[in-house]
Amino acid sequence: MDPATLLSLDARHVWHPYAPMPAKVPSLLVSEANGVRLTLADGRELVDGMSSWWSAIHGYRHPVLDAALAAQAGRMSHVMFGGLTHEPAVLLAKTLVDLTPDGLEHVFLCDSGSVSVEVAAKMCLQYQRSRGLPGKRRLLTWRGGYHGDTFTPMSVCDPEGGMHSLWRGVLPDQVFVPAPPSGFDTPLDPSYVDVLAKEIEAHAPELAAVIVEPVVQGAGGMRFHHPGYLRALRELTEAHDVLLIFDEIATGFGRTGALFAAEHAGVTPDVLCLGKALTGGYLSMAAALCTPVVADGIARGELPVLAHGPTFMGNPLASAVANASLGLLAEGTWRQDVARLEKGLLDGLAPARDLPAVSDVRVLGGIGVLQLDHPVDMAVATEVATGHGAWLRPFRDLVYAMPPYVSTDDDLGVITRAMLAVAEQA
Ligand code: PLP
Repeated sequence: MDPATLLSLDARHVWHPYAPMPAKVPSLLVSEANGVRLTLADGRELVDGMSSWWSAIHGYRHPVLDAALAAQAGRMSHVMFGGLTHEPAVLLAKTLVDLTPDGLEHVFLCDSGSVSVEVAAKMCLQYQRSRGLPGKRRLLTWRGGYHGDTFTPMSVCDPEGGMHSLWRGVLPDQVFVPAPPSGFDTPLDPSYVDVLAKEIEAHAPELAAVIVEPVVQGAGGMRFHHPGYLRALRELTEAHDVLLIFDEIATGFGRTGALFAAEHAGVTPDVLCLGKALTGGYLSMAAALCTPVVADGIARGELPVLAHGPTFMGNPLASAVANASLGLLAEGTWRQDVARLEKGLLDGLAPARDLPAVSDVRVLGGIGVLQLDHPVDMAVATEVATGHGAWLRPFRDLVYAMPPYVSTDDDLGVITRAMLAVAEQA
């Protein structure tokens, strides 16, 4: 079909994320994605600064991932997971147990990050119920977070000005505490730890779990914090008989410079949510991992099973490509790659400090952020970025990038120059 017809059908029939129907702003038509480049139907090439929302860490059409997918498709694309199992899923679960912080031993494979947060919350609420404590059913989280778009994740997203504030009053009523002071290297503020301690203690009888994004609050504001607050959370949750969930859907698989952000703090949560880069961005798959304490607690309850079972759970294609992606990470070059991204982003974004609209420049691992003092018009900002040869998706007062790990210094130059141009024209 010709591009103009495709785009007009797209605008009329296809609902895009966070977009009205029918669409007001036309999408860009992508015909191919190779390495770090998106090729548009009109022939333009864009260097991808977004890794398709944190996921395509090895770039597109990676030969190892393509081969793993093709080989698996030749054997088995899908079988139901109830009563059946298969090698790709078993190997994936075992590798995830080996790679994630010690103590997480059980893996629930599901389809999307939001569902893994649902599963994590269900595990925690059911664990408390099984112990005869059904009143422990709320979640405590810090403000400024983002955990997905289904109802439980929405209930722990930033309650004010956040994307889901429309639903306050309809969503489960959770407990919100202030977000930690901003800055990965900003020294720990003991008075903030006191605030956490008071809130957790006060709400402990009704709390099933605390849920946070460790080290980086992503779509809620792209803020970084000191890992010490995660250690404080671990101590406080243990002291007050509350479970701890880390949502590493965005931060997992190397993005912050550690394989998992929890490693910066040396902390094991009771439940860990993974997604996005799990399959190297090839297919939709996520996971919720938990400790034997959580699983055994559930097994002792009146309903001894976790009543959750998505149709495409453990999908063999997604499992096989996830195994291949983890194999690439095991080769270890991602560490140098992410360190190189960090340097490229720091150097490339440094001039932004002199721009009047930029109030903060922050970089951690493979994440670069320009904080503006006012919101951008997303359509205009995207046009400026594409005009500079980069694919970016600035939103609210944030111009940010998390490029694929395989981006070269030249690619990073394109991305950072485009970010500066967006900030200059904002
Ligand atoms: N949690 C975090 C930290 C995320 O960044 C996201 C997605 O951006 C989600 C959960 C939801 O994941 P998904 O979009 O796969 O449902």
